[in-house]
Amino acid sequence: MSDDSHLPSSALKVFVDGALVPMAEAKVSVFDHGLLYGDGVFEGIRAYNGQMFELDAHVKRLFDSAQALRLTIPMSPDQIKDAIRSTLAENGIVDGYIRALVTRGVGTLGVSPASTANPSVIIIADQIEPYSPEMYRTGITCIIASVVRNHPNALSPRIKSLNYLNNILAKIECIDAGVPEAIMLNPQGLVTEATVDNLFIVRDGRLQTPPVSAGILEGITRDVIMRLAREQSIPLEETNLTRFDLYIADECLLTGTAAEVIPVTRIDGRRIGSGKPGPITGKLMDAFHAITRGRTE
Ligand code: PMP
Repeated sequence: MSDDSHLPSSALKVFVDGALVPMAEAKVSVFDHGLLYGDGVFEGIRAYNGQMFELDAHVKRLFDSAQALRLTIPMSPDQIKDAIRSTLAENGIVDGYIRALVTRGVGTLGVSPASTANPSVIIIADQIEPYSPEMYRTGITCIIASVVRNHPNALSPRIKSLNYLNNILAKIECIDAGVPEAIMLNPQGLVTEATVDNLFIVRDGRLQTPPVSAGILEGITRDVIMRLAREQSIPLEETNLTRFDLYIADECLLTGTAAEVIPVTRIDGRRIGSGKPGPITGKLMDAFHAITRGRTE
């Protein structure tokens, strides 16, 4: 999804280690291990109507990711939430996007985190440019990337780390193919997720999504969509899917903080279902918009 497709306005104030500073002064050292090694964690969070959406879940995932890397965040979850809200308010953003990141901090050139002492907390607020309305109406085209998703015992996809090279390699493939998203398989050939979105299909009226054990990020939008499906009595299964399951699906959709819910109507040049966004996708998109337009946190 295009959460990286826009540049921040120069008037932005950025939270860096406890202070809100003008964008031009928002800098980290070239010796920060976040830069040197991608050693750090992050979250992307939406604000709707002045309120952060699913803030508790995002902050929990930030702390879980940090714990998995043995990275100590130098603020409490409540302090992070307050800093996120202040950054949003200071920038006058009502509907927008927050990027919160924690880097390992400044150390020597060696890879060891033992040389670092002070992790940095950075919070950036910005506007968001989602996919075009046309793409939500007609659905997008995806390819299945040749690069496989990280093996969970190498670098767990559950860790939302600053190292997104796995996803970037898949993204490069979809750019080359002239399509907006790439779906990744795991080393066993099972479906995982798209580069920055989770994946669902519909088959015979049943909503299906790969389990976390397939090697995916536990998406917060994915959780919301599963909750909405249960509320709407749409049969739901977390089950392993193959490339074949995608090709014969009646519907396919991606979910993510930036993309929200977007239909997929072609994969690898093949038409999915009728080739148009399907009825269950439509229901879930409507239900999602109903909650994001109303009370959100
Ligand atoms: N998978 C990956 C790899 C992602 O980067 C994202 C975006 N955070 C998602 C799935 C969707 O997760 P969420 O709904 O929490 O944004």
